[in-house]
Amino acid sequence: MVFLVEIQKLVENQRSFFLSEQTLDYRFRIDNLRKLRNMLEKYEKSIYQALKQDLNKSTYETFTTELGFLYNEIKHAEKSLKDWMADELVDAPITHKGTKSFIRKEPYGVTLVISPWNYPLQLAIAPAIGAIAAGNTVIIKPSEFSPSTSSLLAKMVNETFDSSYLTVVEGDSESSKALLNQRFDYIFFTGSTPVGKIIMRKASEHLTPVTLELGGKSPVVVDKDADIGLTAKRIVWGKYTNAGQTCVAPDYMYVHQKIKEKLLKEMQKQIKSLYGRDAIHNNHYVRIINENHFNRLSQFLSNGSVFYGGNVDRNQLKIEPTILDNISWEDPVMQDEIFGPILPVLTFNSLEEVITELKQREKPLALYYFGEKERNQEKVMTTLSFGGGCVNDTLYHLANPNLPFGGVGSSGMGGYHGKHSFDTFSHQKSILKQTTKFDIPLRYPGGKLAFSLIKKIMK
Ligand code: NAD
Repeated sequence: MVFLVEIQKLVENQRSFFLSEQTLDYRFRIDNLRKLRNMLEKYEKSIYQALKQDLNKSTYETFTTELGFLYNEIKHAEKSLKDWMADELVDAPITHKGTKSFIRKEPYGVTLVISPWNYPLQLAIAPAIGAIAAGNTVIIKPSEFSPSTSSLLAKMVNETFDSSYLTVVEGDSESSKALLNQRFDYIFFTGSTPVGKIIMRKASEHLTPVTLELGGKSPVVVDKDADIGLTAKRIVWGKYTNAGQTCVAPDYMYVHQKIKEKLLKEMQKQIKSLYGRDAIHNNHYVRIINENHFNRLSQFLSNGSVFYGGNVDRNQLKIEPTILDNISWEDPVMQDEIFGPILPVLTFNSLEEVITELKQREKPLALYYFGEKERNQEKVMTTLSFGGGCVNDTLYHLANPNLPFGGVGSSGMGGYHGKHSFDTFSHQKSILKQTTKFDIPLRYPGGKLAFSLIKKIMK
């Protein structure tokens, strides 16, 4: 009850602060983006420690997939903010002679960011960068399953910013629920599809617009003419980074029968080269977030046959990078998003077969195609629906700030990164400025001549 009152007060304070108009100012936004960057720099050491505790992430992985990504996003926003904020002039038809039409980027107001545990720093802060750039206030609710990072987030944000502008509210789904009972002007959610549905239902009570960054089973399709060496290296990297706990990790591999054996052997080599012969005792190999997920994932190891890996260490919550062969769509591992270091392998004989199959499945967050023929690349990219993806690579699309990152269908709605984050957190307000120097009479009901003229113009 006390908590509910506190939450209500927090949102009220943010609303009054937003209404004070301070966030509308370019300088204010730039200063706060700088403050955010300085905060991350100041706490860099603690960030490495927190991510080591939560997920056993190495300093290298934390920098490349979390911190470095955020520095880049902030730098990009600082450099481009003036352009992003500028009114966008648009053309007008001849009936609008004397007018000026433009789109003004307006902040929504009080926004809520709910984030998951798998990239607990990046996924909490990256949306906030867009919200700040666009002139909103922000409440961040990080995940309870990455407690070290969540409490560090709360400490550094709440120490650096006034809570009426930017703050972190820790806690589990109960905190989320208390927050969702308030009226927000925008909700940005990253997490699972089932919870995404709950968020959208709650948001609809206030007609609050949402971005839903969800998950799903993202396939990697490897055709018979793919460059085996590079394909193996890029799939292994994309799948086992963060021990497969990446929303856009290849969930399963669909490979042409002709090259399967060669590819799997090459992947085995690549796993050893990236993680050593004994990944479980590699001090830099990421662990599974908690026992529930460890148990859920361990059950999949009896599906099909283990081609590589399959070892686990319950004490460390580690699962070896694993490849499962002889898998069918009916296996439990193929029913839901895996979200762990287990790669099931399916085979095909013709690309048509793959396309027909995938068209019947839910639209994934990502899809990757490896193959040299441009005609086939185009076919896959055009005929299949998915959030985003790559030809001849994995994950890399999300590191280009000029590409909107997001899902479609059950993998989500909306997109962000770079300017797309700014746009996500801005209402596009259409404004027409009319002249008072003259008044074209055509719009007013008049004589026959005027009517025939207007018909000519508008038809
Ligand atoms: P989750 O949906 O369980 O939790 C996400 C957040 O929602 C957490 O902060 C949690 O406290 C909160 N939450 C949980 N239940 C809630 C409820 N009933 N009401 C309100 N809030 C609630 O997801 P997770 O396990 O933390 O993350 C894994 C999922 O997130 C995977 O499906 C993954 O694909 C997806 N994901 C997507 C992206 C993306 O960018 N699209 C990125 C990372 C993860």
